[in-house]
Amino acid sequence: MRSDQVRLNCGITIPMVGFGTYSYQNDRKTTEEAVHMALKMGYRHFDTAKIYGSEAALGNALKEAFDNGSVVDREDVFITSKLWSADHHDPVSALTNTLKKLGMEYVDMYLVHWPVKLKPWASYPVPNEEDYEKLDLESTWAAMEKCLDLGLCRGIGVSNFSSKKIQHLVDFASVPPAINQVEMHPMWRQEKLREICEDHKVHVSAYSPLGGPGNAWGSTAVVEHPVIQSIARKHRATPAQVALKWGLSKGSSVIVKSFNGERMKENKAAFDITLDTVDIKEIDKLEEWKLMRGEFLCNHTTSPYKSIQQLWDGEI
Ligand code: NAP
Repeated sequence: MRSDQVRLNCGITIPMVGFGTYSYQNDRKTTEEAVHMALKMGYRHFDTAKIYGSEAALGNALKEAFDNGSVVDREDVFITSKLWSADHHDPVSALTNTLKKLGMEYVDMYLVHWPVKLKPWASYPVPNEEDYEKLDLESTWAAMEKCLDLGLCRGIGVSNFSSKKIQHLVDFASVPPAINQVEMHPMWRQEKLREICEDHKVHVSAYSPLGGPGNAWGSTAVVEHPVIQSIARKHRATPAQVALKWGLSKGSSVIVKSFNGERMKENKAAFDITLDTVDIKEIDKLEEWKLMRGEFLCNHTTSPYKSIQQLWDGEI
């Protein structure tokens, strides 16, 4: 196995540096161009979701690359997509639709996007008062396992699950989750969750690994933190590379988004920088602030979560 990959509990390998495709301000053409550039630079792990609206652009760019034959074949890339909360009733159909948009026969990883179930019509990111249903994780997960049985994906996992929810899932799952994709960066380190996941051999994949500078829903501006900047100067690296290498040093894959050629190159090269134990210790002492707090899932009377404390089971 290559050193820039890690093996998951389901037996397959995942490249440690992933390319995020969520962008609220970029159109389909920009996304396709970014994916083409990413492939040329050597990115082999792409993260999408039904709710990002980027599946078709990602699929189209990849199809062009496969047809061209010069850069990659299908088995050279690792593609993750996610089950939207309105599709818990029928994950097999949801994944079949995702595959149609991607123009693929399978994805490498299919994740339950949130521990939230919505009415089938709620295909938008922020639910309304009347949209919630009671989450029946046993039946959702049984259908995720069915997706795996049918060969529609090579692995199944979850996203935005707390330690308690991971514990609950592994207690009844026939196939344990291979991945929990969560917010993780130097200012939201997920120490407890990483321990629980390690105990259960669940790989933690870090989203917003730079703290999401410029994100519409807020930013923790990790790249602007003086400690991160000073460590970067010490190693002649950039703050973004320090943030990414910190995540990689914890054994996590990092899903970083940039559609800017220079920053894409910079982020990819983070794998090759070295941080010493003093740097890691210093980062592990930074103040913490969660960026994706999930209030938008807790402010309705029909939501099972009455507060963000309940959503994250106190891990906030
Ligand atoms: P991020 O990767 O931490 O930050 C992205 C932002 O940082 C963009 O505004 C980007 O702008 C900028 N940036 C990228 N490289 C940079 C660099 N080297 N220096 C300075 N700024 C840089 O956060 P994210 O976009 O929130 O998350 C990344 C991916 O994780 C998403 O695309 C998505 O695939 C996934 N995600 C998953 C979930 C989930 O619920 N599972 C939630 C959020 C995100 P430019 O494009 O202009 O470079």
